Amino acid sequence: MNISIIAVGSELLLGQIANTNGQYLSKLFNSAGHNVVEHTVIGDNPQRLERVINKALENYDTVILTGGLGPTKDDLTKHTVAKVLDRDLVIDQNALDYIEQYFNEQNVEMTPNNRQQALVIEGAHVLDNKVGMAPGMLVQQHGKQIALLPGPPKEMKSMAKEALLPYFINGENTIFSELLRFAGIGESKVETELMDLIDQQTNPTIAPLAGSHEVNVRLTASGETQQVCETLIAPLKEEILERIGKYYYGSDDIVIEQAFMNNMTKTFAIYDGVTDGILFYRMKNFDNNQLLQGMLSHHTQFIDERDIITSQLSVSAQIVKDMFNTEIGISVIHQHDTVYLGILENDELAVQSFKMTQRRHLIKSRTQNYVLIRLLNWFK
Ligand code: ATP
Repeated sequence: MNISIIAVGSELLLGQIANTNGQYLSKLFNSAGHNVVEHTVIGDNPQRLERVINKALENYDTVILTGGLGPTKDDLTKHTVAKVLDRDLVIDQNALDYIEQYFNEQNVEMTPNNRQQALVIEGAHVLDNKVGMAPGMLVQQHGKQIALLPGPPKEMKSMAKEALLPYFINGENTIFSELLRFAGIGESKVETELMDLIDQQTNPTIAPLAGSHEVNVRLTASGETQQVCETLIAPLKEEILERIGKYYYGSDDIVIEQAFMNNMTKTFAIYDGVTDGILFYRMKNFDNNQLLQGMLSHHTQFIDERDIITSQLSVSAQIVKDMFNTEIGISVIHQHDTVYLGILENDELAVQSFKMTQRRHLIKSRTQNYVLIRLLNWFK
């Protein structure tokens, strides 16, 4: 399937925001085995948008549009696509019920333009918006498909993946991928550990990819349905996790601090002598149960003897534990070429360490994931 992606929004042309929606959609559909052959960015101008849509429909099987779907843009995309396809806009009752329910719950009165959001192109498959208000659409005409997705990335991503993609993976020859995420291990070590599997790969294929202070391994299978692909991927994934599972923290869109926080059940505080508090903020984003109580950030001076490190870890972890009255105190300290992680619970200190370069900016960024994977494993 050849796909053209059109991002609508003058703010993209003005350089105020980057077209991250285009990037996300490309990744999503390429890894499902489709060919993304064109990206276009277009301003909020109905004539130019109409021209671009017509041209894309002439040349490609599928056109995916993002943005211009909500009231701030006068529903530009919806009206333009309806015009191009010569179809009417009709009220979608489910979308209207959802919008009315939202306003009832918020105790806010609905305005006519909110009602407009429930208008969809006649005959479209409506794509639920689980995050926002404007429904998406998939319209089929003369063997071509046009999808309309909202602009806000949070809304667009969940809709693209959960509501739109399934229409594109139930064909005769489906391609399905799972991205395994690893932290605290280098790319070359991953390749060495998996060398024989990589050499023998056929279906699924194995692709190690270096990320930002982490390594990902993409397993891609092809088969008749997604379920067939998943069955092909399962034993290979198991084999890989048997070898390097202690560095694995989750698959696909998860981030490591999210994996850790999903798993953590105890209250804790951090003494951070390395990352300038970034570790704290990364975890805090996913702290749904209010477990992370506080942080002290401080650059430790270099000290020489190992036993001093242990007492430093113990003292600093105790300080934050007492100060924030938590079950666990965590301390992270750097000395020479090593980062030390102290975990204090019930008066017992567990120490872990890992080698680290001397370059300050690298220590700061790399330490974050190295610490997170160790915490994840410790509290599993
Ligand atoms: P709304 O209901 O907010 O009007 P919409 O579907 O009309 O939604 P736009 O108004 O086009 O969407 O975009 C809303 C916001 O989403 C933009 O201000 C921008 O922050 C973000 N956005 C839009 N398009 C993109 C894109 N291609 N890449 C990244 N972010 C985008």
